[in-house]
Amino acid sequence: MENTRSAFRARAVQALGDATLRQALDQAREGFVAKRAARFAELPELEGLRDAAAALKDRVLDRLDEHLERYEAAVVAAGGQVHRARDAAEARAIVLAICKAAGARRITKGKSMVSEEIGLNDALVAAGLDLVETDLGEYIIQLAGETPSHIIAPAVHKTREQVADLFARSHGGPRKSTIAELVGEARHVLRERYFQADVGITGANILIAETGSSLIVTNEGNGDLTQTLAPVHIVTAGIERVVPTLEDATLVLRLLARSATGQETTAYTTFSTGPRRPEDLDGPTAYHVVLLDNGRSRMRDGPYRAMLRCIRCGACLNHCPVYGAIGGHAYGWVYPGPMGSVLTPLIKGLDTAYDLPNACTLNGRCAAVCPVKIPLPELLRHLRHQQHLAAISPPRQRAALVLWRAAATRPWLYHALERLGARLLAWLGGRAGRIRHLPGARGWTAERDLPAPTGHTFLELARRQGLTHGHDRRAVSDEHATMPAVDRAVCADAGCSNAPHPRLWFDEDPSVRFIAHFKGHAGTLERLSSRAEIPAAVERLRVAWGLPARAAVGADLGALSWPAGWDIHHGPAGISETLAVTPAFAGIAETGTLMLIAAPGSPTTHNFVPDNQILVLEMDRILRHPEDAWAMLRRREGGMPRAVNLVSGPSRTADIEQTIQLGAHGPGRLHLLLIDRSMADGDRSG
Ligand code: SF4
Repeated sequence: MENTRSAFRARAVQALGDATLRQALDQAREGFVAKRAARFAELPELEGLRDAAAALKDRVLDRLDEHLERYEAAVVAAGGQVHRARDAAEARAIVLAICKAAGARRITKGKSMVSEEIGLNDALVAAGLDLVETDLGEYIIQLAGETPSHIIAPAVHKTREQVADLFARSHGGPRKSTIAELVGEARHVLRERYFQADVGITGANILIAETGSSLIVTNEGNGDLTQTLAPVHIVTAGIERVVPTLEDATLVLRLLARSATGQETTAYTTFSTGPRRPEDLDGPTAYHVVLLDNGRSRMRDGPYRAMLRCIRCGACLNHCPVYGAIGGHAYGWVYPGPMGSVLTPLIKGLDTAYDLPNACTLNGRCAAVCPVKIPLPELLRHLRHQQHLAAISPPRQRAALVLWRAAATRPWLYHALERLGARLLAWLGGRAGRIRHLPGARGWTAERDLPAPTGHTFLELARRQGLTHGHDRRAVSDEHATMPAVDRAVCADAGCSNAPHPRLWFDEDPSVRFIAHFKGHAGTLERLSSRAEIPAAVERLRVAWGLPARAAVGADLGALSWPAGWDIHHGPAGISETLAVTPAFAGIAETGTLMLIAAPGSPTTHNFVPDNQILVLEMDRILRHPEDAWAMLRRREGGMPRAVNLVSGPSRTADIEQTIQLGAHGPGRLHLLLIDRSMADGDRSG
């Protein structure tokens, strides 16, 4: 990492002069900020969830070792292996050793900030392995030879034209110009790589101690193809990612997508628990988790402990005016923006990353939107203080701070200087009220005039207008009193010591809400009165979509009478599969999400490989909340399945100019056949 003072400033200046970068950043920031604001405005309960999530993360940190031990035991019980890495070098060595033992040559990789943190790609490529990133944004920057500039939108700085040039150079063939064509080209190129991979590497948004599961959220489905198709699955995750139970994971999930992209939920949320089981038709035969410390234990025991609450949503980046002006590369390492300005000095050293805590206006927007209420400005101020105490900051700055402290701790002196300064600046501003040249602020006045103060301090003006100190606290309490009530879920797990978490409340009938939200995720739906109608409905769709009469079909649907000439098989979906017809385990009304589980009759590849997927759900399997589904899974024989896929609409990406394109890697069409046995004849619409 080159992050000396001159290097950071040079990168920032270069970024400020890059008009294309500014345009891309403006577009991305506006999209993320507006969508998040809309989600939080429609659900005031989310503020309560932020408190609950912060408290949960703090409780986990209090007993982190215990939770990690419990997690490790559950992974082993599910047939997987856990490897502990103290630092980046150890983590790289562990991953390389697993790849070597597997005789691996080709690696696919889903998006993982931990793998960026440990410099995994360079190590694997240096060892002669053929590695490809499968997230579209990561794939773009891999081709460009760059690092991510945003933790959830790695190629946010690239325009469509730049991506078109890059693909034409890298893939050969005619240059594509539309976003749909570019996404289609990446899908085509990456498809074979999934099937050829010897090892698939992913990150983990959450680790669940109760079940030993790793959880990833994606919109594209690339992470699922990566971890399902390669014979060996390696998960890389920081130790702070563990939570005790499925209910705890649900609390974090309710905030993650809403804070990150403003989505109600991502298209795919997948829980992976160990390797393929004897009854499974697909999935990896080996499952490894590499747990990375890399300074996290030290952080947990010190003043920066709150930083370990971070769920890597990127909201602080999206709301940061400094990030919005210079983008991610200027920060010099993998974690940019406010969260990076705290994490990078803590991992890389106060001196190495000197400028980052100082490249902040302390406006507080990051803390105001952080879903786990990390006091980022406070942590940044603390880092500055440490730099001051360690005499890392420049001598002039330290001298200025000593003088400032002398004034700020003597109110009579402070107010006298304040009055003097205000009068002086007003005089410098003259009649125009603008200062054109100000010694000591040339960086500002070289580009623009500085508005001059009126000559009075804020306190003088406030006194003149009869304002008093304090604010109306009652108004704040009243606002809270009008919040909708929240349903309280009981944490079913005995060993977690969790308080119940709030759920999102809704009054509608669960099936009505499920249908509305499912359609809102771009899924299509029709109701059938019995399972016997399934083959005819599938045939209608096949003709409408122009597909051959061949499908991968869940085993328990195979006994239906399919039209003559249909080629039905129940095995895993192959590379040329165009259609799968699969049973859903449950529907979740809260978000209009389908729950699919790996079972002998429903291979996981059916959910991600074909271009089109038709799902079958019995109306009486629509549940209100994810917590109801967890209770069902706990009662199920065999417990937690190897894979649980929560699917909310077709595969999609917005990695090129924030434009949504369906069918990024998984199915571009998702159609639901809802079996409603109470349905009157003729009432088939969704
Ligand atoms: S610090 Fe907060 S807002 Fe920033 S990425 Fe982490 S969780 Fe999200």
